[in-house]
Amino acid sequence: MTQHVVQFSGGVGSAVTALRVAERLGTRNMTLLIADTRAEDPDLWRFSDDVARLLGLELTVVRDGRDPWEVFADQRFLGNDRLAPCTFFLKQKPCRDWMAEHAPPEGTIAYVGIEPNDRDRRRIPAIARNWQPWQTEFPLADGPDATKDQLLDEVRALGIRPPLLYELGFQHNNCSGACVRAGQRQWKHLLATLPERYSHAEAQEEQLRELLGNVAILRDRRGGTSRPLTLAELRIREQNVA
Ligand code: SF4
Repeated sequence: MTQHVVQFSGGVGSAVTALRVAERLGTRNMTLLIADTRAEDPDLWRFSDDVARLLGLELTVVRDGRDPWEVFADQRFLGNDRLAPCTFFLKQKPCRDWMAEHAPPEGTIAYVGIEPNDRDRRRIPAIARNWQPWQTEFPLADGPDATKDQLLDEVRALGIRPPLLYELGFQHNNCSGACVRAGQRQWKHLLATLPERYSHAEAQEEQLRELLGNVAILRDRRGGTSRPLTLAELRIREQNVA
């Protein structure tokens, strides 16, 4: 019997993907596989548990054991919007290791929560390639276009409160709003809405700078040059504007 493994991130795209798979195939051979990066907002786990409960399932949680900052120290590389080794070590590898042990490729379909818009659909070939030898499906991307707000309305209609980060205006529910792949706009938003999390990231970045030298998550590209822009510098700049 085919196993249906939803690569569940705690985001609304993967949540609605899980709902679609359950509607189409039932939940008997379905797994909600989620990686714990040890950096998630606590409300991600509340939301994920709510979705699992609605489907009558339990989350299958895998973890590397480190958080992104520990990965950067071990790799001697601070992640940024161009390269983020934390994704591989904390999400992709633990999920693939679980699949290798529990879900043989010949009898498993992996479902990925690509959201139904053209920008996300363009990512499908690369994602499918990365998941080989497993077969992948993208149930949301196969359907009509929908905005994130429409997806959130869909989970609200089922009685599930959306994750806090979306309610605070973040585009993604990952790593507590402090994703190293995010741009300056999201970091400024984090500073404005969840300053204690910004402070934590700022302190972690400082520690990594002591280890690695003049590196930063962000870059300042003003004036035709590019240089590291630390979270401390961005914060001071923002505070001077306010
Ligand atoms: S969400 Fe961002 S910070 Fe978290 S593991 Fe993925 S790339 Fe790294």
